[in-house]
Amino acid sequence: MLSVEGLRSKYGRIEVLHGIDLEVHSGEIVTVIGANGAGKTTLLRCLSGVQPASAGKVLFRGDDISRLPAHRRVGLGLSQSPEGRQIFTNLTVEENLRLGAYLFSDARVDKDMADAYAMFPVLREKRNLSAGGLSGGQQQMLAIARALMGRPNCLLLDEPSMGLAPILVDQILDVVRTLRGLDVTVLLVEQNAFAALSIADRAYVMETGRITMAGPAGELIADPRVREAYLGL
Ligand code: ATP
Repeated sequence: MLSVEGLRSKYGRIEVLHGIDLEVHSGEIVTVIGANGAGKTTLLRCLSGVQPASAGKVLFRGDDISRLPAHRRVGLGLSQSPEGRQIFTNLTVEENLRLGAYLFSDARVDKDMADAYAMFPVLREKRNLSAGGLSGGQQQMLAIARALMGRPNCLLLDEPSMGLAPILVDQILDVVRTLRGLDVTVLLVEQNAFAALSIADRAYVMETGRITMAGPAGELIADPRVREAYLGL
């Protein structure tokens, strides 16, 4: 589904991704874990096309999308739900969802909206309220629901658990799990390594712009180096 080869990226003259290789297969939940500043957000931004890569390739469903602008990637089925949510707080919940479907004008938008409300009943209850009035967890649900309105084949999720109380983290993880049943492949970036490894099929560990470990999530969660560095065990 998604294949990254030798990806490098810079802010000004400082390179922060030093040649990333990773694969996400259709139907998988893959996570990239790593400390604050490791480059996880930059990686997702390069994949969604909002940050330029200075070298390397991104292949999506067999096509080289490395040079495509972000909106073209969304059109191909690759969507990002950004860190910090970035919902439009002065618009209503429903207006935010409609923006996620801006590529489409067909009758399926109403069905997608109904599906989103079935997945997140609290969003239906609050559909006419300003999104700025939602709690942190509800805003995160709205960000994911909005990304799903773009009918992605592959969803890039940046730190969906950030800033949430543990019970809400569990709810968000349940949502990510249900995406598997909807045929949405997920690349999940998380600092909450335990949460991410507990729902992922495979995982990559990122340290200062490089992938340093990779494997089935169940193996990494048991690996002494991961346990010490990322799980605090
Ligand atoms: P976090 O979880 O805190 O977002 P991260 O793993 O996602 O961390 P990035 O945000 O990708 O890491 O940052 C990688 C490196 O790039 C860090 O050293 C960071 O300071 C630097 N960086 C990030 N954004 C910028 C920017 N806009 N300009 C310059 N440097 C940046």
